[in-house]
Amino acid sequence: MYVQMDGNVVIMNPNNGDILAMATYPGYNLNDPYTINNEELKNVWTTLQSSERSNYLEKMWRNKAISDTYEPGSTFKLITASASLEEGLVQDIEKESFACTGRIEVAGVSIKCWRYYRPHGSESLRTALMNSCNPIFIGLGQKMGVDTYFNYLEKFGLLSKTGIDLQGEANSIFIAKEKAGPVELATISFGQRFEITPIQLVTAVSAIANGGNLMQPRVVKATINSETGKKEEKEPVVVSSNVISKDTSEKVLSMMESVVALGTGKGAQVQGYSIGGKTGTSEDGVNTGKYVTSFCGIASISDPELVILITLYNPTGEGGHHEGVSL
Ligand SMILES: [Zn+2]
Repeated sequence: MYVQMDGNVVIMNPNNGDILAMATYPGYNLNDPYTINNEELKNVWTTLQSSERSNYLEKMWRNKAISDTYEPGSTFKLITASASLEEGLVQDIEKESFACTGRIEVAGVSIKCWRYYRPHGSESLRTALMNSCNPIFIGLGQKMGVDTYFNYLEKFGLLSKTGIDLQGEANSIFIAKEKAGPVELATISFGQRFEITPIQLVTAVSAIANGGNLMQPRVVKATINSETGKKEEKEPVVVSSNVISKDTSEKVLSMMESVVALGTGKGAQVQGYSIGGKTGTSEDGVNTGKYVTSFCGIASISDPELVILITLYNPTGEGGHHEGVSL
């Protein structure tokens, strides 16, 4: 088995859906697609079965940002926070307080906060997001209920493909709404036990960034007929509007700014820019011991022009996989 770190980055303009950058690492040369990009494998390449070789090549050619699903982890708390504000479950993001006791009981199952050993105690919604505190978001999910929560999944475009103008887009994998009980709802509320594609998350967070419009991501802005020179502009496509209100959008953006200024996303600070974001860590499959670490950022918070998602699979650097630390 050959383990190597890989990852991808997507950058989208939230206002029109333009994909400004989309890259997968390790990459390969499009003009030389049969040359493999893994040194270790290169040494043994000739000894491999042809099926192993073609499996690896197919993996290497994948655009992970649109073709591969992953468990987002805590970046998904942005969706739960937005839905809670929109539903009026939280009105004041500073003054209303919630309690983290290190765990929460859901239908007889005890689900831990990541900091169960030193519970967060009393928190506002803003501090809960900064601390990435699981029980608060689970509690909000429970208050909303399965129907309402799934309604937001749909509104944020997370139950269907984005329709990006590229081949091979995968759809998310959620438990069917009819089968989702309190425990499933709890895990979804803090980003676990379901899978989405990076492009789905970037598109959903773009709706938070732009004040509530779900945009269709696009790579092609215009086509030019090489014979006639006729140019055909493609208009940005608003898939749905009013996913959330302007007020909710502003509150979530402000909380994301705090995450970067003071919370788990400190590593994303850039002097002179107002940047917001949310970290996430999840397991890459069940009991694999491999992790997916991610950061979803917005720049700038006062006038969002970029939504960025960085996803690292199996990071092994100095900071390991702990969310925020290695980013
Ligand atoms: Zn907590």
